[in-house]
Amino acid sequence: MLARPVTPLLIACDFDGTITCRDTLHVIIEEFGVTGVWDRLEPRLRAGEITVEQAMVEQFAAVRGTTEEILAAVRRESPVREGFVELVAWARAAGHRVVVFSSGFRTVIDAVLKDAGVGDLPVHSHEARFSEDGCRLVWADRGEVCPLCGRRCKRHDLALHRRPGEPVVYLGDGISDRCVARVADLVFARAGLAEHLAESGLEFLPFDDFHDVRRGIDAALPALRAA
Ligand SMILES: [Mg+2]
Ligand SMILES: [Zn+2]
Repeated sequence: MLARPVTPLLIACDFDGTITCRDTLHVIIEEFGVTGVWDRLEPRLRAGEITVEQAMVEQFAAVRGTTEEILAAVRRESPVREGFVELVAWARAAGHRVVVFSSGFRTVIDAVLKDAGVGDLPVHSHEARFSEDGCRLVWADRGEVCPLCGRRCKRHDLALHRRPGEPVVYLGDGISDRCVARVADLVFARAGLAEHLAESGLEFLPFDDFHDVRRGIDAALPALRAA
């Protein structure tokens, strides 16, 4: 009997703190932002006076630097996590699709992925226009507010990219990954996302690098195939 072919997977991956070792937004704010802006925004955010998006707009308005300066800092401070390029090559050879869903900025993501040699990956993200007079954010279209989390979340990106019946592997580390992770067939999580899923009693696999992810997907493939 012939072996059944491997079911093609959609491997959807967060960018900041997941593909990269450090969150590029943190790097940018640290080097080019104004100290104290976040301290003023945080109580208003917690009190519900402003949204996360409004807080980001205000915080990045105080970020002063050219695109060249910003990208140089990101390249220095935010390298790609070990094994990512190998995972992409392996996934493609096996017929799986890899996509990037990010709440960060396209210009930054494209530069980092291109440097790594995987600049052709599909990316869904916001965008930032950097300048010495302050940075302006351009929001991605994330459709209507998600009924589950009350935000415009990555479930919208997934709905756009997922093919009927395609099993989803999701990889992430942060708050913007929480809602979409709940619809994935297999979740790899680190940092805050791992803590959140553990507290919620939801299953996930921890990872330190993408070699762990590759091994985890390999081990889970028979189950994903049967689903
Ligand atoms: Mg992240
Ligand atoms: Zn949601």
